[in-house]
Amino acid sequence: MGGGEGQWTGADVTVVQTDTDAKDGQIKCPKCGSTDIQTNSRTGKLRCSFCRHEFEPQLLETEEDVSSLEGVRMGSGAQDRAADADDVITLKCESCGAEVVIDTASANQARCHWCRNMLSINHQVPNGAVPDAVLPFGVSKDDARAEIERFVGKRKFFAHPTFTREFTTKNICGVYFPYMIVDINAHDHLSGTGEVLIRSYSVKRGDSSETRYDADAYHVERDFDIAINDLTVEASVDKLNVSSSEKTTNIINSIMPFDTKNCVRYNANYLRGYTSEKRDVDVNNVRPLVATQAQDIARIAANETLAKYDRGIAWSGEAFDIKGESWLAAYLPVWLYSYLQVKGNKKLLHYVAVNARTKETMGSVPIDMTKLWIVSIAIEFFGLILALVLGSSLVGWDKKERWLLLLLGVVFFAIMYMRYRNSGARHTYENETQRSLSNVLAADEFIEHRKGLRNSRIEGANNTNLHGTGGGSILDGLL
Ligand SMILES: [Zn+2]
Ligand SMILES: [Zn+2]
Repeated sequence: MGGGEGQWTGADVTVVQTDTDAKDGQIKCPKCGSTDIQTNSRTGKLRCSFCRHEFEPQLLETEEDVSSLEGVRMGSGAQDRAADADDVITLKCESCGAEVVIDTASANQARCHWCRNMLSINHQVPNGAVPDAVLPFGVSKDDARAEIERFVGKRKFFAHPTFTREFTTKNICGVYFPYMIVDINAHDHLSGTGEVLIRSYSVKRGDSSETRYDADAYHVERDFDIAINDLTVEASVDKLNVSSSEKTTNIINSIMPFDTKNCVRYNANYLRGYTSEKRDVDVNNVRPLVATQAQDIARIAANETLAKYDRGIAWSGEAFDIKGESWLAAYLPVWLYSYLQVKGNKKLLHYVAVNARTKETMGSVPIDMTKLWIVSIAIEFFGLILALVLGSSLVGWDKKERWLLLLLGVVFFAIMYMRYRNSGARHTYENETQRSLSNVLAADEFIEHRKGLRNSRIEGANNTNLHGTGGGSILDGLL
């Protein structure tokens, strides 16, 4: 399975230059000549700090018909980094001639220390610090603070007292994280067996009853083209490791998607006042992850045409083939609160992250485990006593509900833990990525009636399974 996972040779790649006419050094306001320009986070446009002139954003001219993509295209900002590329770049100030050093690991701008003009790096440098595109901040710091405070405010009772004491949103940080945005034109062919429920009924087994199902089985095939728009993956090793035990990086993953269609051509002034993290992976590093996620998106999309198979499908064969792909490197905006929890010699970095376009907020709050245990055990006892007192007199209650009563404390513990830590939160790329199917061919051939089945789903059901949820083997080469 999986057609697009190989490496390509350089000859197959079309590089689209995205930094033509870019200028390093001073970028001057056309109205007043000032070099103090930054983002107005209410409009997402650049604005001169002196005369308030607002610049029309330069759109990225990459509009393409995804369904006709062939081969590999990439923006010049997404090209592989050079092994010997230096992070530190020196520019000569055009006003006074001073040499100004910019460390592109954390910023693409610096102020001339003599004449105070702002100098920018806008040409793509071979260290990956200048992407093709940027999505400007569209949420102000005050709004982000309010979102973070609301999120934490709803999780006060079991929050660790040290955290509650130290929590403040004063120092939240606006960060541009590096991402790869990929359009994919692919073809998928799936074949397997699907079941349609005919009826379900109870049978006596000793003194209890069990459910049985009758179903019709079909041989099912789906063959289609799929155009996937703006599949977005993190372009840093650190953030790709969503199952890290030291950082809750899954939190940052889970605030996707961004409205990437509003990305504009990169300009260092957008980064003003924010920090940026340059990418440390190349297209080849995340290509297997992107291919796997694209295949997941295709398999999940096929379910739209399979609604009648209410007992699911057991796919036994899949041929997924990527015909064309187009890559862009981009900076996307995130407001970030981080908190380092120290437990003995173990350290865990908790995040609360706000998508600085959509305000989608997710976080991990350190838990007061002693308090959570005590309350959970108390609830467990309460449940036990209730089950004993009421016992078999629970008329109309079936077994399941009585078991739930016995597990009340355990269930409570699990729910609270998830609510505070959100360790399972992730971006549901399989549903949230824009895609469209075309040229759908379907085969649905009746095979047989199946009677007395014990499971509510077809044996081997896999039409909702995912393979590209990050962590694990996909990143073996990077971590
Ligand atoms: Zn101006
Ligand atoms: Zn100068």
